[in-house]
Amino acid sequence: MKVSIVKCPDYEQKNIDESIKKAVNHLGGFEKFIKKGDKVLIKPNLLAGKAPEKAVTTHPSLVSAVIKFVKKQGGKPYVGDSPGGATPSREAAKKAGFIEACKNQGAEFIDLSKPMVVKNPNAEKYKNMVLAERLSEMDLVINMPKLKTHALTVMTGAVKNLFGLIPGKRKAQLHLKYSSNLDFSDMLLDIYLYVKPELTIMDAVVGMQGAGPSNGSPIQTSLIIAGEDALGVDYYASMAAGIEHTRIPTMVRAKKRGMLEKKFLLKGEKIKNIRVKYELPHQVGLEVLPDFIKKFFYDKIIPYPKIKPNCVGCSVCAKNCPAETITIRNKKAMIDYSNCISCFCCQELCPYAAIDVKESAFSKLFNFGVKIFHRR
Ligand code: SF4
Ligand code: SF4
Repeated sequence: MKVSIVKCPDYEQKNIDESIKKAVNHLGGFEKFIKKGDKVLIKPNLLAGKAPEKAVTTHPSLVSAVIKFVKKQGGKPYVGDSPGGATPSREAAKKAGFIEACKNQGAEFIDLSKPMVVKNPNAEKYKNMVLAERLSEMDLVINMPKLKTHALTVMTGAVKNLFGLIPGKRKAQLHLKYSSNLDFSDMLLDIYLYVKPELTIMDAVVGMQGAGPSNGSPIQTSLIIAGEDALGVDYYASMAAGIEHTRIPTMVRAKKRGMLEKKFLLKGEKIKNIRVKYELPHQVGLEVLPDFIKKFFYDKIIPYPKIKPNCVGCSVCAKNCPAETITIRNKKAMIDYSNCISCFCCQELCPYAAIDVKESAFSKLFNFGVKIFHRR
């Protein structure tokens, strides 16, 4: 399985077109993936209706480029994602620039809110999956994630991007059902095993570091990362972002499940020449501990959400909290921590960046120990 990394300085359409072409050529070219008449789902990251310069969503210039390449091969491009929260996907897509990209390049933006149930015999946890029904009519999926940090999963990339194929608020139910980051990551890997996107093209031109996936800061990374395997793209993207695999729960679980035994052959740039150090969200390295210790200490070391003074009481967080543990009082959000599962959906979806991720003193101490462990 090949993964390619090419440099791309900015979102100028010409540069994006050239870099994507070069990256996919390393894998065998678009003609290897798309046949005439194929229905192709282009799946960007549409976490929320945010302007492209916020670095929350896949940049629309990449979506435009891929629509053009699909059409050039005679394929029929469809663009779709199901954002987190209650925002209708079309409204979010308009703000993120995807509707304009579809209009200008001649693709249909599709709604992924209608569910279907599928059996996933290869799953470890999520065997009866609810996915977007429109997926069933597609011949192939082009997965287009954005490289970002994530409060729950440390990094969000190609595997995590497939979570957007879970329709609407069902995502919140899965957060509740698989509340630890390792269980949640197993569920993400189950989705990846079922969907198996044929091609992944990651927007790592400007990524997000710190309080990702929606409230961190943009970080210039100047890369397009493409691959035949979504896990392979994450494997190298995390290295490019300077994040150790042992800190990323999907990588930890993938290794344990034998998914990293296949080799990902890197083409294009070498990691040592392009590495950028992403600042991580507050996160603990639970992965390094045996399961029984993790279970015992879990409540004491996981980070938790904290409402900041700039909360305006809009109630977006309360409406999207899977544990229904947020109430609005006197125009301020209040969290009942006895039910909080630290999924950070609230922090992810707050339109005012009014939720912080906090660490307990114990967590800080623990995290310090983990850093020392990783430096050895
Ligand atoms: S924390 Fe954010 S989402 Fe929640 S009520 Fe306050 S402003 Fe709205
Ligand atoms: S308060 Fe926030 S972190 Fe806690 S369960 Fe609700 S959405 Fe998740």
